[in-house]
Amino acid sequence: MRTLTRIAEMKAVVKELKAQSKSVGFVPTMGFLHEGHLSLVRECRKSADATVVSIFVNPLQFSPKEDFEDYPRDLDRDRRLLEGEGVDFLFHPESEEMYPEGYRTAVEVGGLQDKLCGRSRPGHFKGVTTVVLKLFNIVQPDMAFFGQKDAQQALILKKMVRDLNLDMEIRVLPIIRDQDGLALSSRNTYLNPEERQAALVLTRSLAQAKLMFEAGERTAGSIVTAMKNLISREPLARIDYVEIVDLDELNPVEMIDRDVLVALAVYIGKTRLIDNIIMEVKGEAKRGEQV
Ligand code: AMP
Repeated sequence: MRTLTRIAEMKAVVKELKAQSKSVGFVPTMGFLHEGHLSLVRECRKSADATVVSIFVNPLQFSPKEDFEDYPRDLDRDRRLLEGEGVDFLFHPESEEMYPEGYRTAVEVGGLQDKLCGRSRPGHFKGVTTVVLKLFNIVQPDMAFFGQKDAQQALILKKMVRDLNLDMEIRVLPIIRDQDGLALSSRNTYLNPEERQAALVLTRSLAQAKLMFEAGERTAGSIVTAMKNLISREPLARIDYVEIVDLDELNPVEMIDRDVLVALAVYIGKTRLIDNIIMEVKGEAKRGEQV
């Protein structure tokens, strides 16, 4: 695996790959890798001739009050994991390389970016779309791989790719969970043992939603109320949002008469965790989701 820190070097590598008619697959991450990231890497390896993974903790997508400085980092471990997966190139630029003095430009996907997580993290998705478009321009992937864990992010990026006529495909892969059901996240490392246990309230509330839905409940409000009641019984948990929304615009639905996303963000102590499931009106919960 070759590690590249310079945009010019990364571009030169991509140019060479394209000259050899090799397809380029790309997995953007913020590092501190876990099985969720590695599931994307494995799919990328299967689908593309060359696999590029980026590790970049993007300052633009953190508000001043958020955890940019504290965000977990372990480049040596990440590098070993990626080598083990047979990754071809790791792109790991410094902030100054991505945002040099005088940097000004941003890209925004209007509307979608203000819903769900956008409400409590203003500017977050603008930071995400801006960095991901820059990374796409540098890596020129034929396909890029994202996790359903960040469902809103995946939807926004798909919209950006469509709206801006990018010549590439976005693939969204299922949420990878720990054995007890907690969605893997680099931020789980912030949780002490008591909080780690309390965090299962996210999983349990999604399981409750699925149970009610499967028993025939179609009023979104009833399911949301039951989820909120369940979460509020956990003393370490504080709800940011619990919503049932449509899959295109992320608008809340009243009656579940089409496929929906059940999405939530909950603080466990100081750590904000997100999770979601898709509930399909016909058939089983989508993409093998198990909670
Ligand atoms: P991050 O490093 O948190 O920016 O995540 C990088 C990519 O990994 C994003 O596309 C995430 O959606 C994806 N990802 C994070 N956690 C998981 C998970 N538990 N299962 C599947 N994909 C994930």
